[in-house]
Amino acid sequence: MIPLGEVQAAVLGAVAPLAPVDVARRDALGLVLAEDVAAPEAVPPFANTAMDGYAVRATDTAGATDSDPVRLRVVGELAAGHAPTVAVRAGEAIRIMTGAPMPDGADAIVIVELTERDGVDGVMVQQEAGPGQHVRRAGGDLEAGDLVFPAGTALRGAHVGVLATVDAQVVRAYPRARVGVLSTGDELLESGPLSPGKIRDSNRPMLLALVERAGAEPVDLGSAVDDEASMTATLLDAIERCDAVITSGGVSVGDYDYVSAALEHLAGEDASGASHVDWYQVAIKPAKPLCFATIRGTPVFGLPGNPVSSLVSFELFARPSLRKMMGHAQWFRPSVTARLDDAMPRKADGKLYLDRVVVRWEHDGYRARAVRSQESNTLAASASANALALVPDGPGLPAGAVVDVVLLDD
Ligand code: AMP
Ligand code: MG
Repeated sequence: MIPLGEVQAAVLGAVAPLAPVDVARRDALGLVLAEDVAAPEAVPPFANTAMDGYAVRATDTAGATDSDPVRLRVVGELAAGHAPTVAVRAGEAIRIMTGAPMPDGADAIVIVELTERDGVDGVMVQQEAGPGQHVRRAGGDLEAGDLVFPAGTALRGAHVGVLATVDAQVVRAYPRARVGVLSTGDELLESGPLSPGKIRDSNRPMLLALVERAGAEPVDLGSAVDDEASMTATLLDAIERCDAVITSGGVSVGDYDYVSAALEHLAGEDASGASHVDWYQVAIKPAKPLCFATIRGTPVFGLPGNPVSSLVSFELFARPSLRKMMGHAQWFRPSVTARLDDAMPRKADGKLYLDRVVVRWEHDGYRARAVRSQESNTLAASASANALALVPDGPGLPAGAVVDVVLLDD
């Protein structure tokens, strides 16, 4: 058996970022920038008011108080979206709304709450204003030419807003990986009534969902029967259509486990010698077997068939690889430490256990509770887990022990 970290390093070392493409801004959420984005113009583009009130000359308000206000002559009104038509001269003010440009001559805003109208053309200012008060200067957020976001930025909602602010309609980014998902096994049914020996295919819908959740584009490749020739043909078609392929089942040591054999066959046909297949026994539970291949440049993840093993294997090997392919610098999920509600017994067998737990925050730290069954086939029990607890080799952990947990929630 090989330690988890070694297998992860080997797999991640074999995948590379996809070639960057031009992406319309509306499609860029979640993608990673492949080039810097610079500001072509200042943001805000002009000095404007942060508040509703009066644009004034700060010196005119000297000494103004509630009981001894200063009277200014109101010479105009300015709403957001309109250019000033008159300047503010000594002793004057302009009624102004948030976002409107600062008129010439004015250097401060007195908020409307600190004023009182005085006849048709006057305003009483009840507080002294300092120069620049409530004024948003041009370039206060970005100066023209500033680096807005460096290459490597993963775009969230606010980033998309800033891209619109600087009128970036198209960005250079790493594309979403197109990821084919294939089930294998004669026992699998899509839906409908079960017949003897048959079960419903849960891995493919799960893996398609996990691929989508990872920000990639899922491609449903259906299900292959346990036959080496048809599996080889299906996989060949898949690697031609997809940036990566994920299979489940058929990588154990059973007599009908044909995934590795089919991949070996395809690797053998690649005369360039660049294709290769690695079959690992990873020192973990669940998800011990893993077949990882690169066929003509396309990575193939042969995950184990038991649904919980498939889930954990996807999290440990496929998801980090897809993130690397999509340009992310952060490949792995975050880890925290949590205190166990109950004991987590296990046997000493040279493996790292990745037990499914529900983690919650309490006032002084995280707490973890194991889901009701840790078997590799009980997906219903594992579905509620939001974390994997790393239970080290040995007799297990007592209640109250502190354990590292990998958080699975986005
Ligand atoms: P295998 O690795 O192909 O021997 O499969 C291991 C176990 O996982 C067997 O009990 C299979 O029936 C089950 N299994 C394999 N593929 C799937 C699937 N797509 N959905 C649900 N169970 C599966
Ligand atoms: Mg099988």
